[in-house]
Amino acid sequence: MAGDQQKLHAIMVPYPLQGHVIPAVHLAVKLAAKGFAVTFVNTHSVHHYYISKSLPSNAGGDIFAGARESGLDIRYATVSDGLPVGFDRSLNHGQFMESLLHVFSAHVDELVGGIVRKSEPPVTCLIADTFYVWPSMIAEKYGLVNVSFWTEPALVLNLYYHLHLLRENGHFGCSDKREDTIDYIPGVPSIKPTDLMSYLQAVDVSTVEHRIINRAFDDVKRADIILCNTVRELELESISALHQNQPMYAIGPIFPNGFTKSLVATSLWPESNCAHWLDARPNGSVLYVSFGSYAHVTKTDIVEIAHGLLLSGVGFVWVLRPDIVSSDEADVLPVGFQEHVKDQGMMVPWCNQIDVISHQAVGGFLTHCGWNSILESMWCAVPLLCFPLLTDQFTNRKLVVDDWKVGLNLCDQGAVTREEVADKISCLMNGTTSEELRRETEKMKSILEDALAVDGSSQTNFNQFVKKMNKKINLLSNHV
Ligand code: UDP
Repeated sequence: MAGDQQKLHAIMVPYPLQGHVIPAVHLAVKLAAKGFAVTFVNTHSVHHYYISKSLPSNAGGDIFAGARESGLDIRYATVSDGLPVGFDRSLNHGQFMESLLHVFSAHVDELVGGIVRKSEPPVTCLIADTFYVWPSMIAEKYGLVNVSFWTEPALVLNLYYHLHLLRENGHFGCSDKREDTIDYIPGVPSIKPTDLMSYLQAVDVSTVEHRIINRAFDDVKRADIILCNTVRELELESISALHQNQPMYAIGPIFPNGFTKSLVATSLWPESNCAHWLDARPNGSVLYVSFGSYAHVTKTDIVEIAHGLLLSGVGFVWVLRPDIVSSDEADVLPVGFQEHVKDQGMMVPWCNQIDVISHQAVGGFLTHCGWNSILESMWCAVPLLCFPLLTDQFTNRKLVVDDWKVGLNLCDQGAVTREEVADKISCLMNGTTSEELRRETEKMKSILEDALAVDGSSQTNFNQFVKKMNKKINLLSNHV
């Protein structure tokens, strides 16, 4: 078949968490729009959320049905993560992670084997989340190009990538708490130990998350290509440093085309509609509050934030997931809160964040600093109030507040107090600080928009990635 242009076929396996599934869905659509066939794999559990809670019943259980109707070749498969569908993964996080570490790869192996044996066009590459420990094993076994998909900032990948340097220098896995600045990671001029990801700050480094990190960031070094949901102009140094080791393409922000409702459902929970309430609010007056899909907040902090919101007098939309404290803790708000709020704000269990954040009434975002939320907020030029809770969120906070100056810290002194919450909300929403933040956020918005323009850096990188894939595949098939 020498000389023939073979259609590319990617099997995509996102990490089974909301914040990873969302950019993976958007990437699948982007790839399919470039002519790829994509087989998108969700776990049975993620799929169950979709079909039972958020997907319209006419979709027939296939989240890509709408995308296919508009001509995109995206197939859909599901696989077990090793646990029963009804198992509470939020409550039993450790067990969930153990299963992803030890059991999941066998199921993926079997599924990929089946798809490889019978698919047309033949499968050419595996695009798996960087947090998995098995992509190189499966890609090698089936002769696929191994593409690692990184959904967090390049800085975070760069730090995990150089875990050995952090260990050697006593900034990881060391019982002494080091306070000196870290200045030896290639592409990271300096970073404080308190700005490292929570897992790297931990004293006990034998947890399941650490066992995953140790293996995943070793495995990524065997990937043929890394795709990263970031923007070259924002993270030039980390991207260049990583690129010295492996081909790495910054292709972010990976959003649905035009930042409108995606062709494909992405929410694992039903979305409450906030538009009507927002329509009646003055421009830029509403604070959007959300801590993402996954992190938990202590009840004490929820109570202080609730009082802080009331004290601030600012209108708000607050996403309070039913498991925000824990899935076995129901009443988390202060007694009588709802009555005190009256029409000042609305609380919802989940919403379409893109819809809410792009509404003209929204003027600020109190966030846990999840990377998707940061990209979405900068895209809408909405400044951030940062309340990082775990994992990369501490490092993301540094980028937002210290480097890019598009946000403020919620609590500079550690503990969350209602007075400080109210104070920071008012700095974020009104006055000189607010104006400065808004100016910087506008600049970020332009950087993101430029990156996605026809000849922008992310679009160019994406085209280069596709070109490189075509080249690799044709080289391989010319050897057949
Ligand atoms: N999100 C949403 N509705 C909500 C809260 C969040 O659609 O009520 C989306 C949000 O737009 C983002 C993702 O969920 O794309 C959360 O990802 P992020 O990286 O911000 O945080 P994570 O959930 O991974 O901690």
